[in-house]
Amino acid sequence: MGRFDARVAVVTGAARGIGFATARRFAEEGATIAVLDLDESAAADAASRVADATGTKAVGIGCDVADTASAEAAVERVVAELGGIHILVNNAGITRDNLLFKMTEEDWDSVIGVHLKGAFNMTKAAQKHFVQQKYGKILNLSSVSALGNRGQANYSAAKMGIQGFTRTLGIELGPFGVNANAVAPGFIATEMTDATAARVGMPVEEFRAAAAEANPVRRVGYPEDIAAAAAFLCSDEASYVTGQTLYVDGGAKLG
Ligand code: NAP
Repeated sequence: MGRFDARVAVVTGAARGIGFATARRFAEEGATIAVLDLDESAAADAASRVADATGTKAVGIGCDVADTASAEAAVERVVAELGGIHILVNNAGITRDNLLFKMTEEDWDSVIGVHLKGAFNMTKAAQKHFVQQKYGKILNLSSVSALGNRGQANYSAAKMGIQGFTRTLGIELGPFGVNANAVAPGFIATEMTDATAARVGMPVEEFRAAAAEANPVRRVGYPEDIAAAAAFLCSDEASYVTGQTLYVDGGAKLG
């Protein structure tokens, strides 16, 4: 018996990286999965890899979380095709890093749009089902960058905004059987951090080694580290945990 038997879990931005690992982990524990990503064929490909690896049902749905109509349509499609929705992981994300004086309005708007408005759009569409059935789990992806990071004024504002959003969801939705929490990853080896390596002109392995050396546990994180925390926070074992942000960062911001 799995912790997510008979649950339908939606993970945004799950064609790869942390989202994919989370979708796979939830499927391993019994959930039916909806992989949402910008490109429907990439989402469908990821969904079939999840289904093949775990034997559970998984569908891929093209969705731009920053677009209200697209987010609403995706949630309705999940409910129609999979028979309900119980868990929402707001994972889709982008970076448009630059020092403030070089950051364009578009860099600002697109990052705030995907992370903050995207989480708002998806949560608003899902919560009406959660409240009606008096059950739901929401997990939002924050970041250690919420605490401030050079070149990421847009991203850190969005990721700290996610923490406030999460606390408020905890307050508003708690009476309706809905838990809302956030994970704040440190350095996780994905295409997102590989792109940062390229931006600063370092080979990926060297960049990861430097991040590992600077970390108290002397390694980088992997998508599976975040998936494990996500599985706990979205399980009924965490039903007395809400409005919280769990830093999963190898102690990166200690001291
Ligand atoms: P990733 O490998 O870049 O994957 C992100 C996924 O989100 C991609 O498949 C991307 O699709 C999709 N996406 C982007 N914009 C979208 C939109 N508007 N609607 C739907 N999907 C969209 O990123 P990751 O490293 O796994 O990060 C996942 C989450 O963790 C993000 O919220 C990120 O900010 C957060 N996080 C990551 C780290 C880290 O070190 N990696 C640390 C802290 C927090 P496309 O490929 O089509 O763009």
